[in-house]
Amino acid sequence: MSAETVIDLPESIFQLIFEKSPGSLLVKANPPYFTILAASDSYLLITSTTREDIIGKGFFEVFPDDSVQMEENSKARHVFNKVIVTRQKIGIPNYRFDVFNQEIKESEIHFWSCSNTPILGADNRVAYILNTVVDITEEVNAKEAALESESRLRLATEAAALATWDLNLEDQTIIYSPRLAEIFGSPASTHLSLADIRERINADDMHNIVLRAYFEALETGNYIYEVKVLWPNGSVHWIRTQGVVIKDERKKPVRMLGTILDITESKRDEIRKNDFIAMASHELKTPLTSIKAYLQILLKKMAPLQDSFVSNALLKAGYQVNKMSDLIHGFLDLSKLESGKLHLQEQLFDINKLIADVIAEINVVSPGNSIRFKHYEPIFINADKEKIEQVVSNFLSNAIKYSDKGSLIHITSEKYDGNLVVSVADEGIGIKLKDQEKLFQRFYRVESEKMKNISGFGIGLYLASEIILRHKGKIWVESDDNVGSTFYFSLPLPIS
Ligand code: ADP
Repeated sequence: MSAETVIDLPESIFQLIFEKSPGSLLVKANPPYFTILAASDSYLLITSTTREDIIGKGFFEVFPDDSVQMEENSKARHVFNKVIVTRQKIGIPNYRFDVFNQEIKESEIHFWSCSNTPILGADNRVAYILNTVVDITEEVNAKEAALESESRLRLATEAAALATWDLNLEDQTIIYSPRLAEIFGSPASTHLSLADIRERINADDMHNIVLRAYFEALETGNYIYEVKVLWPNGSVHWIRTQGVVIKDERKKPVRMLGTILDITESKRDEIRKNDFIAMASHELKTPLTSIKAYLQILLKKMAPLQDSFVSNALLKAGYQVNKMSDLIHGFLDLSKLESGKLHLQEQLFDINKLIADVIAEINVVSPGNSIRFKHYEPIFINADKEKIEQVVSNFLSNAIKYSDKGSLIHITSEKYDGNLVVSVADEGIGIKLKDQEKLFQRFYRVESEKMKNISGFGIGLYLASEIILRHKGKIWVESDDNVGSTFYFSLPLPIS
């Protein structure tokens, strides 16, 4: 059969099926020439050839099989011969064969995927080979770019000493980078199962932090937490893990993935700092208590003398000592909180009585503020009385601190939907929206002109929020800049 014979085929069928077919070339199985009998339009286009250029010519005359980039057994001659011998279709999924671009007169790198299908003649031997070619240059380049960016990402995570992991929520299987085993105290090559990893996390942290974060993450979509891990050699380390939850199209969480960082060094620094604060505060507490006692004795002794200057000075000194003592207690609570030693001692008490007591005390220390508190009946809650008193006192002293003398402060306490809700509203400097969500963070203070002369450390609201959260309550603020703020907390009421 010759090229002419093929052209003899009914034109309508040949043109429609073959010439329009993607990347097809028909060669005669006549080694070593492999005469080209027909080519589809797209084959001509992708190889930058014309029908006149190639029909009737030997395949290797047109497409020299001398590409150095190709492996020997991917080369067309090898493949064509193998098709003839085996009478099987042979595919080469990915090979490089550069094409000379006539327009720019330069050779361009191209990648191809091809299949070579034998067409048997009447004698049951291979008569033709149908060579179908697809240009996969773009896919290969995209894959290479993805690999490159993946390897760049891997380098970056390695440089940052981060471990990465991916947990399948359906079968609880985990895959992770070698760094993870190191972070958990084993050589990078160790295979750790999810159970091994969980075993090394401090048992309390596992229960209080990890599991809580896990269930919260299923709702919120992401999480971040810090926990202690115990290495097999007995040493204690700290890790911070941060990640996201991946959901399927039905919004069902299917995977969790993220990074883990060893934060032992910075945690040890933080612990040293906390220990220092705890120690210093503790040492300051004792002399301060005795100064307070002496001031009270002096006040009593001076009373008969009716020297208004002296008694006024002693009152003011007492006020400053109280401020200092509150601050020191704040620092002590902070360090207890950070080292996990802040424990709640719950009891049943009337919140309205507690609020009234706090107001009475504040009125003694800083008279001149109008604090309005309307309440009708006792509301009993089951909570740590001293800690809740601290929260109420922080709300009230802030309301005084951040508003003009003489302005009104309203405090309310109500039952609402199974909860107690307490609010403290002032007519003070207010808080901008951007600051509102950060107020409850440790050491956060608003930076503004109005704040310049008001001292503080930004730990009161942080402690208040930790106290309320530990009681499974909520804490929040509503405020308009320059108009005033209302701080709220809510606590679950005991089930009666
Ligand atoms: P401190 O008052 O010691 O700075 P807090 O934690 O009690 O610490 O408060 C944090 C910050 O929140 C304050 O520095 C202040 O910027 C802002 N703030 C708290 N209460 C009020 C309020 N009632 N009105 C306006 N700003 C407030």
